[in-house]
Amino acid sequence: MASGMPSEQIGPPLHLWPRVIGQQRVKQTLLSALRTGRIAHAYLFYGEEGVGKDAMALELARMIQCEQQREEACGQCGSCLRVQEMQHPDLQLITALPVGKGEDKGDPPLAKLSPDDLSAIQEEYRRKGENPYHQISIPRANVIKISSVRELRREATMTAFGGKKRVFVISRAEDMEDSAANALLKTLEEPAGGCIIVLTTANREALLPTIVSRCQQIRFDPLTEEEIRSALINRDGVDVTHAGLVARLANGSYSRALSLLQDDVFAERKFVIDFIRDALSGNAAAVAEDAERIAGWKNRDKVQRFLLFVLMWFRDALVLSRGCDVVNLDQQEELNRFITRNPEADLLGAIGETERAISLLDRNTYIQLIIFTLATRLRATLPKRR
Ligand SMILES: [Zn+2]
Repeated sequence: MASGMPSEQIGPPLHLWPRVIGQQRVKQTLLSALRTGRIAHAYLFYGEEGVGKDAMALELARMIQCEQQREEACGQCGSCLRVQEMQHPDLQLITALPVGKGEDKGDPPLAKLSPDDLSAIQEEYRRKGENPYHQISIPRANVIKISSVRELRREATMTAFGGKKRVFVISRAEDMEDSAANALLKTLEEPAGGCIIVLTTANREALLPTIVSRCQQIRFDPLTEEEIRSALINRDGVDVTHAGLVARLANGSYSRALSLLQDDVFAERKFVIDFIRDALSGNAAAVAEDAERIAGWKNRDKVQRFLLFVLMWFRDALVLSRGCDVVNLDQQEELNRFITRNPEADLLGAIGETERAISLLDRNTYIQLIIFTLATRLRATLPKRR
């Protein structure tokens, strides 16, 4: 292809906005809005958790504030650096916050918070700036307060310090308490020219329809396994084997991939294999011990991941028994041994049983019982011997 002017390209070049993984369609939409000066005054970025909605909102803010005003934030100027540090006066991140002692609705959002609360918030925002895929988690922060939205309303009418537009990012907008949502609605009804409001949510249905309809909605798709894998390698320095496994487990979410890295999924997976061995050998005492340990985690997400690992293991066994390659090369030997020893095993049945256990988990059933039942049923998928 001849080297054309960048502005004549149909899609954005692949390296565009590298702080945001994938999402080419969204980049394209926003880029053409920037080119034609038709940035909306309010956006709703929706899509699953961890696919880059906040990352895109912050990148949009960085681009708008960048002193170079190109199609790519320069990453070097004072404005870019301040955005990255979440210290830019024309960028406000609005999230759920804790409620201070004796705080009433008239207080500014941070006024009654303890020094500990304030430093926790500051640290979480700093981490978000450093890695926009970081999921903010502030103790006791359950709702986006009306005072935060009132502050937005006031600031939205003020001129931007840097002479550009002010950007407000409301992360997990579904966390807004009712009064906050109603206050925001008023702002969306009378848009101030000098600001852009970006709401992000993984749960669009939980927002007021009147808010949704006043925003330009942009859907974010889950990331592909390959996008996650290469981002893990290139951005986070993860080695190739780990990156492949984590990308597979992350289910389209980069934030989930990052949290999997922290949780040492490899140790967990080792335990999964022990459990499968205990279950298939019909060792009831060992299974009971495993079930007790799993229930003791008191963490449904972790239990779910455990069951997904079990599911993956049987799926891999199935794939391998049909002579195809599996992704988890490190497990291949163990899987081969299993298949050789149990050529008659009902692998589809085992997969079905595991899926059933996962769906029971969603319905809040007693964890120990789910695990114990699963073990018994897995055992039953093996043909009776002698
Ligand atoms: Zn810049």
